[in-house]
Amino acid sequence: MKPHPALSEASLLRDWRVLCEEIGERRAGSAGERRAAEFVAGRFAALGLRRVATEEFPCTSLARARSRVQAWFSGRWHTAETQALVGAPGTPGGRAVEGETVSLEMPADLPLLTRGALRGKIAVLFGPLPTRVEQHRRLVAASPLAVVHVDERLPFAWAKSDGVYPAWVKRHGMPTTVTVPYLTAWQWRLAGVRRLRVSAAVELRAARSQNVIGELPGSLPRLPALVLTAHHDTQCGNPGADDNASGVVCLLALAGTLAAMPRRRTIRFISFGCEEQLSVGSAAYVRAHRAALRAVGLEVNFDSVASPLGHWEMWRTGPAALETWAVRRLARAGLRVRAHAEVTPFFDTFPFNQAGVPSLGFYRPNFSGGRWQHHSRHDTLAHVSPAEVARLVAAVAPLVRDLAAQRVWPFRRALPAGQRQVARQLARELFEF
Ligand SMILES: [Zn+2]
Repeated sequence: MKPHPALSEASLLRDWRVLCEEIGERRAGSAGERRAAEFVAGRFAALGLRRVATEEFPCTSLARARSRVQAWFSGRWHTAETQALVGAPGTPGGRAVEGETVSLEMPADLPLLTRGALRGKIAVLFGPLPTRVEQHRRLVAASPLAVVHVDERLPFAWAKSDGVYPAWVKRHGMPTTVTVPYLTAWQWRLAGVRRLRVSAAVELRAARSQNVIGELPGSLPRLPALVLTAHHDTQCGNPGADDNASGVVCLLALAGTLAAMPRRRTIRFISFGCEEQLSVGSAAYVRAHRAALRAVGLEVNFDSVASPLGHWEMWRTGPAALETWAVRRLARAGLRVRAHAEVTPFFDTFPFNQAGVPSLGFYRPNFSGGRWQHHSRHDTLAHVSPAEVARLVAAVAPLVRDLAAQRVWPFRRALPAGQRQVARQLARELFEF
């Protein structure tokens, strides 16, 4: 099969450059995010999608964040690179707090987090931030002056941008939290650092975000549709070339490729805003279209799919037969994927799963911790591969075409009971649904 013109690396790069170079950072509620939504809507229309619409919803937006961390060793204060955790409060008045450090290795040191145990102290927390609400409550109750987080998945010399679950902060509170580079924390340990100074000011404001929708109507529009999705927003401080301009570029190339193919079922394309705050855009879409979602057969999501070195993962939520079929269909088109049966709250598939819609999610990690450029200033066009996205699109397009041609949906259009239960529990813990 001759590659479709929408699939040339040059055409992928054209869209990618607009998102990452002309627009750049696209954090939720910002002018950059809005420009990205306008760009995607224009491209959807130019590619021949019908009923192109932009739907707005409220979100919180980071207006300003600054932080400073200093460590006392070798007889003076050393300033470290740092990022404030978005969603966590700043220090009082944004002024520096100073205290003795307590090193905690998580989650093994959880028993040390008793009420008031960290009062007046600065916790250096190595490992994951609390992943269960119970752990989060213990950390809050220990009352540290501040928390310095060292992410064990990212053993690098730069600090990553990150956020916390907004529902947890609202319900249980949160200490001031900043991140420092792994190698900085390594140096502190060797130097025997005992005192730190931390200041942070994080200002959030109410804002608006956008989802962009368009569709290729099927010849039998009453049949359950397919929904292809990605998100166009970024974390702060980087142009999100992989996370997730790559997914948007992939969506546009799929629209271009699939427009020319015959189909019975409607194929809907959605580019979400505000994913980085835990799929706020996807959840807004699900809330606004709950009845229509009963007639959706499958969501296929693309998030961070352009690592040059890496391997393909396909996250399946839904019946096992769907996975078996998709793995074979992709392999026939030259793409071999590691398939996982997963319900994850960290992709835009989760709100759809909550509404009972099965999903496949494509993701391309490049080391066992995920992606090394994750949420850092290194997530740029220098570190993505148009050839890999072209390969993905070339394999996913025939899969979508085959499904859109079916009169009778070949799989159960439901989540297995075990996955439904996990989805319900995650929703209760992380989202207060
Ligand atoms: Zn993402």
